[in-house]
Amino acid sequence: TPELTVFKFDNSYAQLGENFSHSQTAMPVPAPKMIRFNSTLAQQLGASADALSDSEWAQILAGNQVPTGANPIATVYAGHQFGNWNPQLGDGRALLIGEILTPQGERFDLQLKGSGPTPFSRSGDGKSPLGPVLREYILSEAMARLGVPTTRALAAVSTGESVYRERGPLPGAILTRIASSHLRVGTVQYFYSQQDLAALKTLVDYILQRHFPEQQHADSPALALLEQVIAKQAELIARWQGIGFIHGVMNTDNMLLCGETIDYGPCAFMDTYHPGTVFSSIDHNGRYAFGNQPAIANWNLVQLAQALLPLIDEDENRGAELAQAAINQFPHAFFKAYHRVMANKLGIENFSSDDEALYTDFLNLLEVENADFTLAFRKLADLADENRTLEKNAPEKIGELFQFSEAFTPWLTNWRQRLANETQSAQDRQQQMYLANPVFIPRNHLVEEAINQAYQHNDLSFFQQLVDVLEQPFTYKSALRRYALPPREEERVERTFC
Ligand code: AMP
Ligand code: MG
Ligand code: MG
Repeated sequence: TPELTVFKFDNSYAQLGENFSHSQTAMPVPAPKMIRFNSTLAQQLGASADALSDSEWAQILAGNQVPTGANPIATVYAGHQFGNWNPQLGDGRALLIGEILTPQGERFDLQLKGSGPTPFSRSGDGKSPLGPVLREYILSEAMARLGVPTTRALAAVSTGESVYRERGPLPGAILTRIASSHLRVGTVQYFYSQQDLAALKTLVDYILQRHFPEQQHADSPALALLEQVIAKQAELIARWQGIGFIHGVMNTDNMLLCGETIDYGPCAFMDTYHPGTVFSSIDHNGRYAFGNQPAIANWNLVQLAQALLPLIDEDENRGAELAQAAINQFPHAFFKAYHRVMANKLGIENFSSDDEALYTDFLNLLEVENADFTLAFRKLADLADENRTLEKNAPEKIGELFQFSEAFTPWLTNWRQRLANETQSAQDRQQQMYLANPVFIPRNHLVEEAINQAYQHNDLSFFQQLVDVLEQPFTYKSALRRYALPPREEERVERTFC
């Protein structure tokens, strides 16, 4: 086999042993072809720009060739799915190819998603149709550009084979996912439920060393881990709530300990604001509705606390008290982060608890008026410095794309009065608000259009354009108007499927 030196690999998780993962190669595919390669990300990961041709990359990222230094494994985990305990999940359609060490010394997992069956596939085929691969590429890269912690997409390749689903045969594809790690709440839960305390301890030490090295020598490493994950998740969920992102499947196996967003299965961005918004076709009871996300994160963190309990303190009661105290911090940490997010969106520098009503009133108005979440906040940024229109290099305003209805007039008056008490200049405020209020988000109807064009006409050009546009979510250009517009009634997509 040829040497394929693309990244510097150092596969630490594979070293933890047979309890943790299963050595597994990808199933070869007939005709790998690169759909999109994220060369900026590849460079950040330490690949030299032209180390390989597109077709060589496609061979590797379709799983047909193992790059030098990699050691593909399928990892095991468990999880609560829609609140129901599942004692064994694991990488059923994904492989951890290896861990990349970047030139800066950072460590990232390189994972292929859709690379064939593993011992954890259960009844599944381990494969992925093209649609979900395109969705994850669009969404995860958009999230990164929006400044939200997330797994990344390094590449999408088509496999040249069909994948069989209910709706019939679909073209197959594989996504290359990059993550700080793929260790989940469900990974910890697996070893807890196996009552394998030695492995649980190994795992906790490993996670601390990898993600929270400053906590390695804490009095209670398990408690330190719990506290760190709580802080990361509070921050993450606050960011989601600030951009109208609905994850859709916040099962405990889809919550990463490193605090990055993972699993772009049935997720979607909200157009019209409503806290009850649900897109996922499998979320029948609205468990994972937009407004429930903070509470569900809290629920998941309780499951993490439960799984760490045997290691928190030798005294069981004391351990439970410490875990409870940590969990009690989540709402505080969430609201602290959320207030910062909302203050930035409204252009307030010094947020006080009196300002809570300002954002809750605004959200209530959006709900009553069926207003578009993204464009309403963006319009506030435009209004933050009304003199600015005349200036030469002023950012382009969204103009007729969105207008506040009469019902907003009293609120806008309040808001302006509140801003009058601030010391920041209007111009600085507006600049900062433009960076807190995107104009381009991966709207569901656009994502669907990209997928439909690919399926029905084998045409990936709209997918490519959409990814390009979403690279600059905070800069409006009227030439890109259609990407900023909410769906027309007939374009509205109500359901997403994983
Ligand atoms: P998810 O709903 O994407 O979080 O996946 C939940 C579990 O189902 C994970 O263990 C996946 O690996 C597994 N899974 C989902 N789809 C497939 C498939 N097509 N083949 C094998 N396993 C799958
Ligand atoms: Mg998942
Ligand atoms: Mg999924």
